Amino acid sequence: MKNIILTGLMGSGKSSLGKAAAKATGMAFVDMDAFIERGAGMSVSELFEKFGEERFRDMETKTCYMLAQKQGQVIATGGGVILNEENITALSRSGIIIFVDRPLEKILADVDIASRPLLKEGADKLKKIYNERIDRYQTSAQIILENSCSEEETLSKLVNIIQSERRKEPKFAVIGDPISHSLSPEIHLPILGQYFDNPSYEKIQIKKGELLYWVRKVRDEGIDGFNLTMPHKVDIIPFLDQIDDEARLAGSVNTVVNGGGKLYGYTTDGQGFFASLLDAGVECKGANILILGAGGAASALTIRAVLDGAKSITILSRRLEQAETLKEYVTKRIPNAEILAGKMDTAATSRFSERSDIVINATPIGMEGVQATWNDLQFLKKIPKTAVVCDLIYKPKKTKLIEEAEHLGLKTKNGLDMLIYQAIIADEYYIGTPVDRVAMFELAKKNLCKETQL
Ligand code: NAP
Repeated sequence: MKNIILTGLMGSGKSSLGKAAAKATGMAFVDMDAFIERGAGMSVSELFEKFGEERFRDMETKTCYMLAQKQGQVIATGGGVILNEENITALSRSGIIIFVDRPLEKILADVDIASRPLLKEGADKLKKIYNERIDRYQTSAQIILENSCSEEETLSKLVNIIQSERRKEPKFAVIGDPISHSLSPEIHLPILGQYFDNPSYEKIQIKKGELLYWVRKVRDEGIDGFNLTMPHKVDIIPFLDQIDDEARLAGSVNTVVNGGGKLYGYTTDGQGFFASLLDAGVECKGANILILGAGGAASALTIRAVLDGAKSITILSRRLEQAETLKEYVTKRIPNAEILAGKMDTAATSRFSERSDIVINATPIGMEGVQATWNDLQFLKKIPKTAVVCDLIYKPKKTKLIEEAEHLGLKTKNGLDMLIYQAIIADEYYIGTPVDRVAMFELAKKNLCKETQL
């Protein structure tokens, strides 16, 4: 998000409005005079007295350049910043300049003349400064914000301006390695396009170990949000300012929102999967769930299933210790979770299939380009006819598992709907409000099918 730069005469309300608007919109706030004071270790009055105005103006110009290198900030400038064309050029490259236009008589009624170094000569001096600068304030700003009504009304106008600026050309990305195969842009762009003007969504290859460079880039370039795929979902966590409860429980993040330089992490894999099931009329609450595989996807699904009130979750993996570790990980964090762990062999798969309402393949068996095949699909015959068989794989559309399950008259679901729903939920975090998930699903799926062979 571009910077929002507030200009105006001293006492026009730039600092209080800027601070409140930044808080309301999740942006960072910078008071330019306070920034200079912190750097110099003395007040603006002291700077004027000790070094004179010229030196102060130099420092102001340097500060303009410095602040213009970052994005996502509401900047309350000093009253004289517009005096130097160089300042305006630097600041306007980084964002929108808004002139906070407060009538002189209101400023005179509010301002503490004694604390302003330029007003030593009294109120007449302020009138003189106003007349000298008013033209410059007006011509250097893209937007003029009248501040003659109550502070709440002006603040609400400013917040609306920021919200509408935020809808313009936001930048999103998906990072991973490899990344070229990712379908994320085809899914996210049609959805984001409904809520933003001209959004971008790039695929960016970021290798393991490059996250520090990446998060710096996100903050400096004002990238509004990003999704993560292998190998970053766990490694990103120490770089974030906050993660939500589900991401903390799962120990994994697939969506990051940049709120004014603060990075907020979420996981939407588990929610996406169960949203796709709900779409097919299948409830997680009260269900007995069998998960084959105990990797990242199985972990996200297990956490969400527990949060959504599943009756029991059985995790089977080819290496028994992996299922046991996952069970231990979840029950340590959610002690009342009903979880069983076992080895994924013919006997166990058949036995647990008998009492399952939802059976999920969370292994890559059957995926395009993967050699592994099912040794035995006899367990499908044990699954109750009311149950649903899910494969997280979406390439090919119909895996052997799904084909066989359909053949036996069972309800099925491949991984494509989960892929789309987890993206819709990520977009809800970007947009900041819930969306019409059914409509967005249709839109994204249509685009995905048009752009790819899925
Ligand atoms: P992962 O972390 O690598 O876990 C894979 C799990 O499958 C591990 O338990 C692994 O055991 C097991 N496994 C691998 N090969 C196996 C085989 N031949 N026989 C039995 N078990 C085997 O991967 P993941 O991220 O959880 O992904 C799992 C699957 O879900 C993949 O197919 C992925 O594409 C799919 N997925 C889909 C979506 C979606 O949106 N639709 C999202 C995420 C994942 P070992 O550790 O012993 O190898």
